[in-house]
Amino acid sequence: MTARGWLLLLLFVLLVGGATSAWFRAEGSPPEVRAPDAFRIGAAPGALELELFDADSGLRAVRVVLKHARGEAALVEENYPGGWITGGSPGHATRLDVPVDPARLALTSGDAFLHVTVRDWSWRDGFRGNETVLEVPVGIDLDPPTIRVASGLTYVSRGGAGAVAYSVSEPTRRDGVRVGDVPFPGFAPGGGEARFALFAVPIDGPEGPPIRVFAVDEAGNESEATWPAVVVERELPDAQVTLQQRFLDTKVRALARSENLPVEDLAAAFREINTNVRRANEVRIREILATSAAEPLWNGPFSQLANSKVTSRFGEQRRYYVDGEPASEARHMGYDLASTAAAKVTAANRGRVAFTGELGIYGNCVIVDHGLGLASLYGHLSRIDVAQGEAVDKGRVLGLSGATGLAGGDHLHFAILVGGIYVDPLEWWDPDWVRTHIEARLVRSAP
Ligand SMILES: [Zn+2]
Repeated sequence: MTARGWLLLLLFVLLVGGATSAWFRAEGSPPEVRAPDAFRIGAAPGALELELFDADSGLRAVRVVLKHARGEAALVEENYPGGWITGGSPGHATRLDVPVDPARLALTSGDAFLHVTVRDWSWRDGFRGNETVLEVPVGIDLDPPTIRVASGLTYVSRGGAGAVAYSVSEPTRRDGVRVGDVPFPGFAPGGGEARFALFAVPIDGPEGPPIRVFAVDEAGNESEATWPAVVVERELPDAQVTLQQRFLDTKVRALARSENLPVEDLAAAFREINTNVRRANEVRIREILATSAAEPLWNGPFSQLANSKVTSRFGEQRRYYVDGEPASEARHMGYDLASTAAAKVTAANRGRVAFTGELGIYGNCVIVDHGLGLASLYGHLSRIDVAQGEAVDKGRVLGLSGATGLAGGDHLHFAILVGGIYVDPLEWWDPDWVRTHIEARLVRSAP
């Protein structure tokens, strides 16, 4: 080929290459802005979360402006790395936190808009890139909700439960009662404005915990309200339990095996079961009870196992001994009820079965949700006669008593929980207590 021919070929290659790259670099797909349908801003400083994406040339720049009643405020102006020839880094989503400090911006409550402009590294629009503009409505609410507590003077025992009725001036993201740091969810069981929360004073919590109703509105503003609620402290009994060799050889060995624990030292295995396995079981129980029916499924007082004798009460601090040596300690979080062997165990009240099956120290176990955060637990069963999800009436047979799990002999371990916290079943067995402390404050929806 002649020199002129080579030159023509080179020109041709350059032209085709240039055209091809120009065709790619002048891509026409605009960047994407992913945002919720609307934002809410409360009084506290926070951030609004956006996601930006550009498929072909990559994100180049973003500008976010808040247009509100008193003017505009530029919240974000950001350029992303990239170049004329190479473009940016296309194909991956970029999270953008848009900081908002209502006090610094002197915002007032009302409607506003978030105006988002994004460009990419395309050569389109005179090399300025493809542009996407999105406007998202923003509700600014700087006022915390107003809480009105409807209940009067309330006495709650250490390890006991209580209830409070209240109303909140606006819809909430969450509300309820806090005892110290422990939150208990509120519900609207009557379907109207009236709200209701069950709460508990944890048996091992700090003395004199503050008890408050709280409400967080949809913009995140939080209010608290107090009312005269008095915690009645009480002495908790101690109990010494001597572990028999037969119990260690059979029960503890079998439980240790099923939990994959070493069985050379059975006292050590017992300690492990009584502390760490117990703790893991309690975590599981709280997971099971994380959601509760939003209406009261129970009605009136709870019933104690028929013809049963109390062999251990709620709140006992049990000190376990092996050969006269202290082995472990644990607080007893329920009632032990002994009847005949393989006695029919019945639902203490109306509810829905939240769990059935093997549950560590509790052996074969049934947990019933009674709604509004209230639940009952039946442990050490030899047989289970209900299925998870089943609605049960008070008195329905759940199974037969036994000695599965960490039980020395045939008995029922019966517990009641409020918001995942163990409370004294004695209160819930007492018709007067249930009527005056709970039912009198509860507005049920018309049937
Ligand atoms: Zn027990």
